[in-house]
Amino acid sequence: MFNRAEIIFLGTGTSIGVPVIGCDCEVCTSDDPKNQRLRSSILVKTPEVTVVVDTGPDFRQQCLREGIRDLDAVLFTHSHSDHVMGFDDLRRFTVFEDEQIRIYANGQTIERLEKAFPYVFDGENRYRGYLKVDPQLIEGTFKTGDLDVTPLPVSHGKVETMGFLFSSGGERLFAYIPDAKELSAEAMNRIHGIDLLILDGLQPGHHPTHLSIGEAVELAEQLEVEQTWLTHFSCQVNYAALEPGLPDGIGLAWDGMKIAL
Ligand SMILES: [Zn+2]
Ligand SMILES: [Zn+2]
Ligand SMILES: [Zn+2]
Repeated sequence: MFNRAEIIFLGTGTSIGVPVIGCDCEVCTSDDPKNQRLRSSILVKTPEVTVVVDTGPDFRQQCLREGIRDLDAVLFTHSHSDHVMGFDDLRRFTVFEDEQIRIYANGQTIERLEKAFPYVFDGENRYRGYLKVDPQLIEGTFKTGDLDVTPLPVSHGKVETMGFLFSSGGERLFAYIPDAKELSAEAMNRIHGIDLLILDGLQPGHHPTHLSIGEAVELAEQLEVEQTWLTHFSCQVNYAALEPGLPDGIGLAWDGMKIAL
């Protein structure tokens, strides 16, 4: 049980998931469940609300695995396919009560959702069973139930991307930043010294738009975070081989992992 919040890692994989189609590497052929990763997403439950961050292509499977039956809101970090393409499966959370689900995103993500799923937004979508959403543009800290959510602008290639800082009752709970190469000064200031950070750590090797594990470790140390969990892994990440070598206070997350706060 949890007091303030529970975090469930719905997925910890990079955009193509792990195993990767057509890859015979030791991780893609491994039996270790910690080497099998759906696309990155988390569920956050508090005494008042249940929210999901991102709805990638594996969203339906993730909901079934974790027995998710209720959702109050959806937060989007950015519009890359691995974070939005399960959007239509949100329909199951609006069908019974015939109500809209709140979605929070920046302008670019809302625009791209409108292009990819025009029938959800065109005003003609009034059939029972179709997805109905109430889009909320993120412009600063917003409240959903007992959670205060602050966007954390980060750089991640060409698409506008943010992480989120979750607070409750004026206290910082944790931050989630699944896709980033660099954090803005604003993001750094907001999460400096935080107890819990979930951060992009794609793979040991360099990548132009994601933090490598080495870069993520350096950043977590610079930010003086108490506990960091890395996520959004490629198949270069062999859990059993890499986890023991990480510094204290830094770990590799896995699909289905839960954190109670
Ligand atoms: Zn991603
Ligand atoms: Zn592989
Ligand atoms: Zn991305």
